[in-house]
Amino acid sequence: MLKGKTALVTGSTSGIGLGIAKALAAQGANMVLNGFGDVDGPKAEVAALGVQVAYHGADMRKPDEIAAMMAYAAEQFGRVDILVNNAGIQHVARVENFPPERWDAIIAINLSSAFHATRLALPAMQAAGWGRIINLASVHGLVASAEKAAYVAAKHGVVGLTKVTALENATGGVTCNAICPGWVLTPLVQKQVDAKAAALGLSNEEAKKLLLGEKEPSLQFTTPEELGALAVFFCSPAGNNVRGVAWNMDGGWAAQ
Ligand code: NAD
Repeated sequence: MLKGKTALVTGSTSGIGLGIAKALAAQGANMVLNGFGDVDGPKAEVAALGVQVAYHGADMRKPDEIAAMMAYAAEQFGRVDILVNNAGIQHVARVENFPPERWDAIIAINLSSAFHATRLALPAMQAAGWGRIINLASVHGLVASAEKAAYVAAKHGVVGLTKVTALENATGGVTCNAICPGWVLTPLVQKQVDAKAAALGLSNEEAKKLLLGEKEPSLQFTTPEELGALAVFFCSPAGNNVRGVAWNMDGGWAAQ
């Protein structure tokens, strides 16, 4: 379905980003990966799906590096047809204890990077008359939890950015939508499981159950594969008129 298209997924060396990259590659999209840590493993996993894979190590805190990544993607593949703004970090603390530098980093990576990549991707998509921008927000783009001020502020911002981008392109072939997962068992969440286990003297399994039980009525983690399938839907012809939604995959979290 996506043969001949190019996707760029930020923060795709791990977790949800890698899951979405693999789902889009399985549909034939060539891929630009980004993110820190092991690069060869994720590159090989995506290449095994029979598409061309490139990588750029831009730090999503830095607008100039984001611009270099977008230029590199255009140089490699002509243009970016599908942009997935996924890179994200978390920090948990009450507002009065929240380290200002963590606030700045979360706003830069989880919100501003999506703005920069979007503004740089749009002109080529508009000229081509087709494009898909998919923003990884969170259920925390819809509702709040204590001790996550920067994350909740950034994710609500991502939902707002999604709606504006969708509206400005509503009469053209470029759509923009947000995905709002509940708990997904990636390294980002495993850190929160570990913190709970340490604080309460629980096993890993007990801490996971507690985490799910506090928020997610299904008592199940959403998987990167399920999120990948939603991203593929947004890119499909059936997604042509899906514009500006914030679609939760959260086991009923926000329905409460
Ligand atoms: P993860 O920690 O597994 O992956 C994060 C990715 O972002 C990694 O590839 C990492 O290298 C990259 N990254 C981090 N800082 C970066 C930077 N400065 N520049 C470039 N890349 C950077 O996390 P994940 O759980 O897969 O999260 C992916 C996205 O999904 C995030 O935006 C997160 O907020 C969102 N999300 C996650 C959950 C969850 O439960 N895991 C729920 C809702 C939303």
